[in-house]
Amino acid sequence: MGSLHLIFGDQLSHSISSLGDFDPSLDTVFMCECLDEMSRVKHHKKKIAFQIAAMRHFARELEDLGTSVNYISLDDPHNTGSLEGEIERFLRKSSWNGIVLTKPSEYHLLRKVEQWQKKFGIRVEMRNDNRFLCSTEEFAEWLNDRKQPRMEHFYREMRKRYNVLMEGSKPVGGKWNYDKENRKVPNSSAKVPTPYHSDVDHETTAIINFVEERFPDHFGETEPFQYAVTRQQALEALDLFIGQRLQQFGDYQDAMIEGQPWMYHAHISLYLNIGLLLPMECIEAAETAFNNGEAPLNAVEGFIRQVMGWREFVRGIYWAAMPRLASENFLQGRRSLPAFFWTAETKMNCLKQCVLETKKNAYAHHIQRLMVLGNFALLAGISPEEVNEWFLIVYADAYQWVELPNVSGMALFADGGYLASKPYSASGTYISKMSNYCDNCSFQVKKKNGTEACPFNYLYWDFLARNREKLVSNHRLGMIYRTYDRMSDEKRELIKDDSQSFLEALS
Ligand code: SF4
Repeated sequence: MGSLHLIFGDQLSHSISSLGDFDPSLDTVFMCECLDEMSRVKHHKKKIAFQIAAMRHFARELEDLGTSVNYISLDDPHNTGSLEGEIERFLRKSSWNGIVLTKPSEYHLLRKVEQWQKKFGIRVEMRNDNRFLCSTEEFAEWLNDRKQPRMEHFYREMRKRYNVLMEGSKPVGGKWNYDKENRKVPNSSAKVPTPYHSDVDHETTAIINFVEERFPDHFGETEPFQYAVTRQQALEALDLFIGQRLQQFGDYQDAMIEGQPWMYHAHISLYLNIGLLLPMECIEAAETAFNNGEAPLNAVEGFIRQVMGWREFVRGIYWAAMPRLASENFLQGRRSLPAFFWTAETKMNCLKQCVLETKKNAYAHHIQRLMVLGNFALLAGISPEEVNEWFLIVYADAYQWVELPNVSGMALFADGGYLASKPYSASGTYISKMSNYCDNCSFQVKKKNGTEACPFNYLYWDFLARNREKLVSNHRLGMIYRTYDRMSDEKRELIKDDSQSFLEALS
């Protein structure tokens, strides 16, 4: 009797630990498209199409290698809609030694899996998720004696541990971090290379049509469908990034240009998070480009910091802080998410452009997410629960383990500063500096108050005033509060009145 090797929908890696000792003569792979997971929140249509297409292509690859796969599709009339329902149904039909799986990436699923041995009366073997470079146990140990974990410290240890961009015990180039060089102001006429666009096969086309029919009221557009759905395609997308975009990725990492959703970013996070790419191969590809003189250090270090530092760090934080993190609301944000997060119907051009691009691509780059959408949600005091749900729904790379720490911890400061040392709040001046959105906006970024003024300008100060009690002791905000305190009473009243009118209209 063999074992049932269960592969979750985001574990599409041939080297996944659950397949480690797979015996083709005895064992079977179990994969399932689960309606409850796909509609637990109403994911973007393109995200659902991407996930189903990637799962089905992966199952096909396994079968082509001679692996027996029990695959239950969403349109199977017998599909009960839940993973547990499908496991139960399968176990009734056949006998197995046990279930072998890799630890699920999300907390709610892990809690369920921990009950399976008892629930199904079968041995359940859970293995470490080897798609990450730092196990949750190793991260917990690193975290152990730290009051305030900082990504930069973790990242340096990872660089040393994996000997990446190192010269002996020193970082290549003499510095660990080249972020200061990565804030170049965008050039509107920049020739941004065309991003990766996959050849969409018949199977993926059928999936896109199915998603349109089955999930008509979900957010987002399925066309154009440009994403890789196989490992081979994902490797091509990685190659294209390394060859064409990495050189300028660093310089323009924070830049936003209207009509240029892809900029010089990699767009590989959705492949990493679903298992089609592995972090170390992406890191090695970037380091090789640097060693060959094909990409500058500021770009390569910036990219490696995202993959080896930030991605691993937020995953570690997620497991260390759950379930508490999901309900954190340090700044007591209570406002409902404005309708324009779905419709893009707002006169604020920066928000409009970011929502439109999100709707079309299930993608926005990190500064659009953090400093436009997240910044607005922070300043307007929107409920973290609603903001988290929106981010989880709309982005193809979003799973709770990566979305929640980024949104609650970094964008909304909802954890009170456990993850970020200060709130990522900014006025319209920052957006104007890093984008050309203000050129086509109904509001004027240079105006600080009044109906024509950029709302980010007064909301920024109002946010600081409203949350003074909780933020004033933050040493990184001391100078900003001193600036606020030097304003005249009249100016402070204007800020308050403009913010109140704006926020009331928002509701
Ligand atoms: Fe955004 Fe303000 Fe610029 Fe308009 S003026 S695009 S609202 S930052």
